[in-house]
Order: sequence, then structure tokens, then C-alpha cells
Amino acid sequence: MNELNIPAPVEEVNHPLIDKHGVHLSILRLDLIHPTIGGNKWYKLKYNLEEAKQQGHDTILTFGGAYSNHILSTAVAGNMFGFKTIGIIRGEEYQPLNPVLQLAVEKGMVLKYVPREQYRDKNNVAFVDSLHSTFGNFFLIPEGGSNELGVKGCEEILQFPTQPFDVVCLACGTGATLAGIIRSLKPGQAAIGFPVLKNGEFITNEVKKYISENGNNWSLQTQYHFGGYARQTIELNEFISSFYKATSILLDTVYTGKLLFGIMDMIKQDRFAAGTRLLAIHTGNKISMPSMIN
Ligand SMILES: *Cc1c(COP(=O)(O)O)cnc(C)c1O
Repeated sequence: MNELNIPAPVEEVNHPLIDKHGVHLSILRLDLIHPTIGGNKWYKLKYNLEEAKQQGHDTILTFGGAYSNHILSTAVAGNMFGFKTIGIIRGEEYQPLNPVLQLAVEKGMVLKYVPREQYRDKNNVAFVDSLHSTFGNFFLIPEGGSNELGVKGCEEILQFPTQPFDVVCLACGTGATLAGIIRSLKPGQAAIGFPVLKNGEFITNEVKKYISENGNNWSLQTQYHFGGYARQTIELNEFISSFYKATSILLDTVYTGKLLFGIMDMIKQDRFAAGTRLLAIHTGNKISMPSMIN
């Protein structure tokens, strides 16, 4: 599974606001490693797929919403490495399929839609048993690829930056990627997570499940959710568009747009000491980006 261990480039961001406040900002472009399995999802899948193979499984089953990057990454990576894949999708089926599910199906993923109430109980033994009676044997990867093996993969994300940095910033859905990042910090480095869901404080406990000692080298900024998961505002969309004009870097509306908005806002408020070297992780992939270039 080394095909996707492609070094992700780091780009220096030049922006008048950043210069004015005397800080430095680079972006780790995980979005460039693959058009659909790009971003953090490959790192979360990597050791899960290895474990599935080792246990002799030929089928992967996982869970996600209708626009889930994880569902798509699992379909594409599963196909690439010879697994059958099953996606348990939250909510009802809509035809025609959106581009994410369309591509997942083209890669051979079998989709099963479950009502939202049932989806909420997806980790219950009885529900998983019912999936086994429908689909037989499979290796189960939790929603978002967020388990210990997923966190282990995310420890490898910070291997790419060759330039030193002080603070690494990333968007959080479940917090598993943040946990892997924290586990790989070097002394003197800190991480800041930007939850994209409302009431993102729950991420604290999620992260603590995976880290052995709770040091003071990480924190959350919970006020940049723009109303909740996948919610957008005109302000957010205008920011994404102006950031693209200034830097030629495209951000998605669900995760990385909120992250960079938050970072730039904190820079504006002088929340970082002059000279601080910030590293933002671009966890997105091409398919999740708005089309700003025609
Ligand atoms: C899934 C995803 C995240 C969130 O990762 P978690 O490990 O669940 O916190 C961040 N950015 C993008 C683009 C994603 O697809």
C-alpha cells in the first residue's frame, strides 16, 4: 500500500494581512496527493486496510453521510487494493446520486441507506449483527475512519514539512486526525483544532481517548463553525473566494474554509506572537472543492 505514500508539498502563503502581523503561514497540501483519496482520509484508512488484509478479509464496510469524503475514499482505496466495499449511508436515497456517491458506486461500492434514527445506533451490537446477516463477513471501519488505526496513520502526516514550525492548525470533524497530530508533535510545538460542528467542545474527550498524557500542547478554537456541520454563510463563501484570489489555493466550505477563516481571524486579532511559524493542514480533496475556476 505504498502507492499513496506521496510526499505532500508545503507552500508558503503570501498575504498582506499575514505580513502586517509579522507571522508566517505555510499550508501542508494533503489535498494534492490524490484527487479523491487525498486529504487526511488516506492516513486514516491506511492501517485499517492493512489490518483487514492481515485478518484475511476481502470486504470493507463503513458508514457516512451522503457527502462523506470518507465514504468516497474508502470506495476508491478499497477498489485500488482489491477489497469489495459496502457503504452504510445516513438518510434516504436521492436520485440522481450526488457526485460523491456516484463515484463511490462506479468504484464498486454497494450502498445501503438507513434512516437517521437507526444510523445513530450504528455502533450497537444488534445493528452490526443485522449487517452481518445481510452482508456476511466484513471488516468494519467506523464513521470517518476514526479509530486507533486511523489515529496511528495520522501520526505520519507531519513527516512531510521539512521547514520547522511552531503551531499546526487543522479542521476537526471527529478529532481523530488531531489526536494523531498531537501524538507526533515535537517538544516546543503546539496544535490547534478548529471544530466544524457546533458545540465542538466534545472533541476534547474524543482526543483524550487516544493520547496517553494530556499535555498543554494543544487546544481547540470552537467559535468558527458558521452555524454547524456543512453550514455556510455569505461571509464564509466570500472569504474562500478572496483567499483563492490572493493565494490560488482552493478551500472547501465544510472544513478547510472554516479553518483558514479562523486562522486569519486569529492573526488579525494578534493572537499569535510576532515571528510565530504557523502550519495549516489542507485536509481536503479535489471533489469537495467549489468550482471557482471554469
Ligand atoms: C474528514 C475530514 C476532516 C476531519 O477529520 P477528523 O479526523 O474526523 O477530525 C477534516 N477535513 C476534511 C477535508 C475531511 O474530509
